[in-house]
Amino acid sequence: MILNNISERIIEIKGVTKKFGDIEAVNNVTLSIKKGEFVTLLGPSGCGKTTLLRMIAGFDAPTSGTITFNDMDLKDIPPHLRSVNTVFQRYALFPHLNVYNNIAFGLKLKKIPKTVTQKDGTTAEKLVKYTSEEINKKVKGALKLVELSGYEHRDVNSLSGGQQQRVAIARAIVNEPLVLLLDEPLGALDLKMRKEMQLELKEMHKKLGITFIYVTHDQEEALTMSDTIVVMKNGIIQQTGTGLEIYNEPLNAFVANFIGESNILNGKITGEDEISFDEKVFECKTSSFRVGQSVDVVIRPEDIVIKKVDQEKISSGRYFEGTVVSSVFKGTYYEMGVKSNNGCEYLVQSTSHFDAEEKAMLRIESGLIHLMKKERFNNKFVTTLKNNENVTIYDVNVPCDITKLSGITKNADGYFVDEKQESVDLSGKDVIASIENKDIILRDHDAEGQFSGEIVSILFKGDHYYVEVKTDYNQFFYVETNDIWDDGDRVGIELPAEKIKLKFPEIEDL
Ligand code: ATP
Repeated sequence: MILNNISERIIEIKGVTKKFGDIEAVNNVTLSIKKGEFVTLLGPSGCGKTTLLRMIAGFDAPTSGTITFNDMDLKDIPPHLRSVNTVFQRYALFPHLNVYNNIAFGLKLKKIPKTVTQKDGTTAEKLVKYTSEEINKKVKGALKLVELSGYEHRDVNSLSGGQQQRVAIARAIVNEPLVLLLDEPLGALDLKMRKEMQLELKEMHKKLGITFIYVTHDQEEALTMSDTIVVMKNGIIQQTGTGLEIYNEPLNAFVANFIGESNILNGKITGEDEISFDEKVFECKTSSFRVGQSVDVVIRPEDIVIKKVDQEKISSGRYFEGTVVSSVFKGTYYEMGVKSNNGCEYLVQSTSHFDAEEKAMLRIESGLIHLMKKERFNNKFVTTLKNNENVTIYDVNVPCDITKLSGITKNADGYFVDEKQESVDLSGKDVIASIENKDIILRDHDAEGQFSGEIVSILFKGDHYYVEVKTDYNQFFYVETNDIWDDGDRVGIELPAEKIKLKFPEIEDL
């Protein structure tokens, strides 16, 4: 195969989308992967990591977009002809073969081009199998790399989970792929073994010098091992960068929350280099934002200074007061929840210890306040009225109040009338329906409300939660609530009629 041209970029993914029926598992992903890079696809369950990996391996084909390998389109290249091998979470070893034969299995089947001398003395290029000496050498080399020399004859069932995973890795690298794909390979191991294997994998990556594409939902694992982290959510890349870049300069609240712990609060730009949150004004660089804009404010817990209350310092405005609501020793620091007098709760990590219920004062340096563009996520639907009582939202007829439309009122006889007092029938009329995140009600029982679905992400925002709910038909609602939900909770979603805003579309809305 011509899969080994010289190119700095080994894999180019361009505008790749993968749909499974209505589900958009991967949505318009564009990504370049360099030779020898350790890239990690990181994100919560269901964000499309595995689907992206499977498309690189050739087990799934993109619905649209292209993937090239050393500048060659992979579209018609079957998995076994791609210079790529995959290690899965479940090791999928052959239970009836010993360690040696598990690793040698693929090599025994493989045919490689070789120049052979024919009987008449001429040479010819032929596809031949590896000799048993060649196989032996390769298997021994792979075993050495995964530190299992001497295990050749062991029954794979007699090995520990970690050892089995090493055999699975040896089986993948013995084929000398240019790219190794690893799909949560350490997921089945216990914490201690996982930590050890993380370091070993990094070491192997260095020794082999090939490209690793690693899938995990564990941010710590991603930070420990990767050159580049690709953070994904709902099939979309949220940010690509080094661990440090993603930690220090997250592009949105989701990334900030997913990588490390963060305080994420609603804020508003109140002036040049001035931001207000928690009902207080702070100095901070507001360069790319305009006055009046709503933003997400991100503050790392280790960046908040906590001290004993000193009224003079509080009066000077540099500190603000709060009450410690929780305090846990984490080995090298204390992690404390501190509620400000305005009711906003901050997560604080410090070597200074405060007990729960103790008063304290906090300071946040202006340089450590990160501002992020708020994601679009509001609930706005360009749709039609089913009739005078219902608006269609995601194909469901939801009760609404059409007197919210300009010019429409209800007369004394209970008829909807326009400005000329003529009765109206708005069935099929185009409207824009919207509802504020805080006005959507989530119910414990998924049969209550107009929609049913599942909580797919939760963000604590100091004094409330921002949650994303995915309906059973893969549509999204964005909700701000004081109730505590867990990822995966089933909920009923109710849009109260009186909270649904309606307007006739104007040119700029369409
Ligand atoms: P996990 O860590 O749980 O494996 P992931 O980030 O790897 O999650 P994917 O397995 O890529 O996510 O799945 C992305 C979305 O596509 C999910 O909603 C999943 O249910 C859906 N999906 C994946 N494979 C299929 C399939 N073969 N048929 C239908 N839907 C699928």
